[in-house]
Parts: sequence; C-alpha cells; structure tokens
Amino acid sequence: MVAEVIVDIAHSDVDKIFDYACEDTVAAGMRVAVPFGRSAATGFVMRVKESSDVPPEKLKKIYRAEEDFPALNKECLALAEKLKNRYRCPMALVLRLFLPAEMRTGKVGEASRNFARLTSGPFEIPARARQQLALAEFLKDNGEADTAFLRERFGGALKALTDKGIVLIEKRRVFRDPYRGVEGEAAERTLTPAQEEALKRIGTTQKTVTLLHGVTGSGKTEVYLRLIAEQLKLGKTAIFLVPEISLTPQMLSQLRARFGRKAAILHSGLSAGERFDEWRRLREGSARIAIGARSAIFAPVENVGVIVIDEEHDGSYSSENAPRYNTFDIAWLRAIYNKCKLVLGSATPSVETYKRAKDGEFELVRLPERINRRPLPEVQLVDMRREVRRGNPSPFSLVLREKLKSCLGGGNQAILFLNRRGYSQTVLCRDCGYVAKCEHCDVALTYHSEENCLKCHYCGARYHMLKGCPACGSVHIGYVGTGTQRVVGELKKLYPAARILRMDNDTTSGKEGHYKILKQFADRQADILVGTQMVAKGHDFPSVTLVGILDADMSLHFPDYRSGERTFQLVTQVAGRSGRAEERGEVVLQTYEPENFILRFAAKYDYEGFYEHEIAMRAGMFPPYAKIVRVMVVGEDETEALGALKEIYGKLEAVYAAQPEKFLFFNKMHSPIKRIKEKFRYQVLMRLTDGSPLKEIYAICSAAAYKKTVVYVEENPSNLS
Ligand code: ADP
Ligand code: ZN
Ligand code: ZN
Repeated sequence: MVAEVIVDIAHSDVDKIFDYACEDTVAAGMRVAVPFGRSAATGFVMRVKESSDVPPEKLKKIYRAEEDFPALNKECLALAEKLKNRYRCPMALVLRLFLPAEMRTGKVGEASRNFARLTSGPFEIPARARQQLALAEFLKDNGEADTAFLRERFGGALKALTDKGIVLIEKRRVFRDPYRGVEGEAAERTLTPAQEEALKRIGTTQKTVTLLHGVTGSGKTEVYLRLIAEQLKLGKTAIFLVPEISLTPQMLSQLRARFGRKAAILHSGLSAGERFDEWRRLREGSARIAIGARSAIFAPVENVGVIVIDEEHDGSYSSENAPRYNTFDIAWLRAIYNKCKLVLGSATPSVETYKRAKDGEFELVRLPERINRRPLPEVQLVDMRREVRRGNPSPFSLVLREKLKSCLGGGNQAILFLNRRGYSQTVLCRDCGYVAKCEHCDVALTYHSEENCLKCHYCGARYHMLKGCPACGSVHIGYVGTGTQRVVGELKKLYPAARILRMDNDTTSGKEGHYKILKQFADRQADILVGTQMVAKGHDFPSVTLVGILDADMSLHFPDYRSGERTFQLVTQVAGRSGRAEERGEVVLQTYEPENFILRFAAKYDYEGFYEHEIAMRAGMFPPYAKIVRVMVVGEDETEALGALKEIYGKLEAVYAAQPEKFLFFNKMHSPIKRIKEKFRYQVLMRLTDGSPLKEIYAICSAAAYKKTVVYVEENPSNLS
C-alpha cells in the first residue's frame, strides 16, 4: 500500500504530499514516522492508496505508526482541506490545531498502572502466612486492585504470591482525572416558560445557527446544558465553548455534577498529561462533550449533535496565532458537516452577529428577563468632571463612596471594575471630557510619546499633541489610566477594615491564579474585588450587590471601530454581576462623558437602541458593511522588512488596481506600534466592500518567503496595535 503523507514541518517548501510505501495497517489520519531528507520526520497520513507514480525503487518506507489509531478522524481531514484553502497556510499548521500540543512534542504519553488479580487455578496458602491469606481474600472479594495500594496494605505478601504464580499482575492504561476533587450537586430545575420556549424554537428551526440573546442572569447556561443532554440521549456528542475565564470553580462543579466523566473539560489549569488524557477520552468516545475555550472547537468528537458558543461576542474567539482563524467559521463548517445546530449565546451579541440574526440568516431567540423576574440592577451615571471641579481627585466619586459604605455595612460584597485599556494613551480633557479624534475616521487618536504627537491608527494621519483643550480651553489634558494597585491603595485608606482582593494580569499568573482569587471571593474571604476585564465575565456571586465601574470612557475611545461595541458589552457584563440573588443590585458608572450615547444605552440595558445607533455609524465604512484587512510585515531586520513591505505592497497594489471598486481604503504604513520585541512592524491596511479579493491577498502573502521577515493576513483584527 502507499500512504500520502504531509510532513509535520510548517514550511511552504515542503507543504505537499509525499508518497511512502506502508503496511496495510496504516490508515488515513494516523501519525507516522518517515525518513525525510537525511533524517526522519513525523507526518500525517492524508490518504492510503493502491499505487504511486513514484517508481518503486525510489519509494521510501514508513518507519512506523506513532499510535495504533488515527489521531485525526475523517471530519478533521475534510475540515483541514477547507481551512488550508481558506487561510492559505501550510497544511502542517492546520493539522496541528486538531492535536493536543503535548502529543506532537512527545512529552507525555498514556499513563498506566499495575493491577493484580488472582489466577484462576487452584492454589494453597499455608495457614501461617497470614498476610498472604488476607491478600488473597481481598482479591477474591474485590476482583482486582492497584498494586501500589496492595503493597502498602499487605507488604511483601504481594511479591510472595506473585512469585508463586497465585497472583497475576497486569499493566493497564488509566486516564488521569483532573476533576477528582471537584464535586457538586446537579440542581434539579424546572425550566421557566421562556427557557422552554427557547429550547423549542432552537429544536424546530430550519436554520443552522440560532442566536440566543438573553440578558445577564436569564438562564442561558441552563438552556445550553439541556440542549447538550438532549443530544447525548440521542447518542450524539456536543461541543460547548466558553471564554477561558468562565470556567470558574462553580461552573466546573456544575458541569461535573451534570455530566460526570462524559464531559471532557479542557482549560489552562490542566497539566499536559491531563489535557492529553481528556483529548484521548474524546477521541475514543468515552467522553462525549468537549468543553473549553476557543481551541476546543477542534475536539476529536464524532457525530456532533450540537455546538454552543457562549459569550459569542468575546474577543478570545479570534486566534492570534497562525492560522488566524475565527472560531465561528470553524464551528459553522463543523455544523454543516455534522448537520447539527450551532447556538450562539450572549447578553450583548456582536453587531455583526445581531445583524445576521435580524436579517433572518440566523434564528433569533430571546430571554428578555432574569430568572425569577429579578430586576436588573439600577445603573447610576456619575459625571466625573463634576468631581474634579469639586476638588475630588480620587478614583471614587462621592456617590460611589456612599454606596460602598452601605454595601459593606450591610454585609454584602462589591466589585470595582477598572479598564485594562485605561493604560492606552488616549487623550482626554479632564474638565469637559473632550477626546481627541481623527478628522477622517472618527476614532480616538493615540498619543505617541517618542514623537510627542497624536496618530490615527486607521488612516495613519498625524496631529500635534494638544496644548490645551480645543473645546473648553482647559489645560487639564490627561492620558493616563489608573492602575488597580493605586485603587487598592486608596480603598485601604478609605475602608481600613475591608478585606480587598485584586485580580488583573499581574495577580493571576500561574496555573490557577484566577480560580484561586475567584474562589476566595466566592467563599466570602473578601469584601471587595478590584479587577480588570477578568471580573466582567459570567461569574455568579450571590452576595454582590454593588458594582462600580471606575473609568467607563477608557475603552469608549480606544482607537478601534469596535470600541463603542466593546464598551457597551463591558458595562452590561460588569453590571450583570450585581444583584443576582434576592437583594436588588446597584451599579455606579463613572464617566467624563455622561451624555455619551453608548453609555446611556448601556445604563438602560437598551441593546436594541445601542444596535441601531451603532449600525448607522458603521454604514458604508466598517464591518459588517466592509471588511478590514491588514497585511502585517514583521521582521527583526529593518532593511529586509522594508524590502518585503515594498514587494508585498507592489503585488497588493496590482490587485487593488484591477478592481478599485472593491476597495474603500488602501494604504501602507508603519504599524501603530512600530517595534515590538525587537521586531519592526509594517502593514498594508485595506477596507474591502466584500471578501472577494481575499483569495488573491492570501495567495500573495503565503507565497512570501523571507529569511527573517514574516508576512500574514488579519481579517477584522480585534487589535490594531
Ligand atoms: P446567564 O447564563 O443567562 O447569565 P445563568 O445561566 O447563570 O444566566 O442563570 C442565572 C441564575 O439562575 C443561576 O444562578 C442559575 O443557577 C439560575 N437558574 C437558571 N435557570 C433556572 C431555573 N429554570 N430555575 C431556577 N433557577 C435557574
Ligand atoms: Zn475641555
Ligand atoms: Zn484617521
């Protein structure tokens, strides 16, 4: 037999099929070791065929199969072809997505343990060998047992009986169980009528995709879990995607209680061995639900019955490594392949998704109320300009201080949210809230300290740094965000008795960083949680009755066409942490721009109003009406990178010249951040009316081969730095 093999080397020079002779035990999807050039390589068998065009004397033989089962199933292989075409990257890179990294590096393998049992033959143990008798008795009762355990309990008796041939020891593989300690009760719940209706609609619609638009705390999770359980009953499998941060201890124990070992939960807290075993259990079919962040979309489950993407608007669903895939695209392909439903859920769907739902492409199902009709917390907008005028320089308004005091006094908990993007260099007038914006693009400008100027990250326009505010003349121009550390410091002064926890990128490093902090807060070992974006996601803390958003503006003017959308989502999500149990929650939203539309819509939970406003702003300029494409040219050697940019730009310009009507914008420039980690960054920025020139753009970029410079394409990048 002959195997068509892709070698696991991500380089365009070797990105093609090589034929190898093989035994007939080799099957499509297997990983194999093959001779390659003067050494050996690992490869993937894409297909097995009868014969090859390569003359038999030149046909090399596969050394061996790396595993005795195909690591990639049929669906993976089919999907890989599509992804390669779509993202134009070496096949090896695509195939790697489907495997746990630790499998490729060979650093972990299957774990096994020794088990002992009695042989069937008649045997005799002298009455004085008490331990041996006890051991034999034990095995008679229990069938078999782990040898480590037996040695501990019966000492040398195990060896004695093994030597006599009375006990047989067998090595068997075992799966590491990362959730041994996690326990929980499966709450038996009666669905609310709204949940019932949602399930019915998802079940009966002819459309592949359903958008479940439900306010925070409306019980979306329960709907997902029922959908999954339903499919399991039908003998199918499921994929459940959540942002990594949502896999909180509470969520893990819920999932564990509901689905037990049928669920494989993949998160960053697992060890390499555990992750590998969870993957293995999915591949074998002993686990049938894959739960995890973005990469779980590649889970090796077969016969998929439903795919759920929770918090579908979340930025973590776009990959930042090659191939830069969008999780939705993969989910869509898998849903089509498996003829199953794809459910997207969010309280604040992305504008693009919502438009598709409104246009009828996706089914739109709503959960408009919180469970038990609990009211959404009331949001109070606080004008921080007035605080400055009053001479209050602290990060907390007087209103927030009052409310914090009564919240803590009442024995409740509070969350204070600070924008991570507060560190971005947006220029703001502290007296009137004026924000410096680009004259051509209507996005906030960014301050570049090395050149002491303001720049637009969309069109590259430069402006002088402001000396005073053009709107009110004030000289209180600022561009600094407040850090969590400073907030904690100030809080300690104001509330010396309060126990304060801090959660941001600095405090959550390490394997279980954020789990630990969230667990402490959930166990009421702290009164106030201060944090960045991480505290915004779907946590369910019943005693939180106050949420303070310290700097709502900071993401509002981030130089990104999605900054309004991001702000709306953030405010809604953070606010949703308040008042989830009996007591009514409150939210204090501090801003320098209380008249801003986005904040006003967010304060009223008016998604529809926000959407109409936003979609009108984007018409003809930004997604979903246009596609932003950025070609990055990045390299440590400035001369080579510049040369590459010139070359790529020339080729792209030809594409542009051939069909200018497809381009709303086309330009090359430095990237906003010119140098990151010693690498020079250049870009060609385009806005397309539709995606049709993409194929050519990808082709140009994937053909680029430089020594020290890489070229890649980003579609609607979530980060334009
Ligand atoms: P969402 O995901 O929409 O933010 P959750 O699924 O977290 O909302 O649900 C909010 C709260 O309501 C949770 O504490 C959940 O346990 C509870 N809940 C959900 N469905 C029901 C139900 N049918 N009956 C009672 N409580 C429910
Ligand atoms: Zn001003
Ligand atoms: Zn501009």
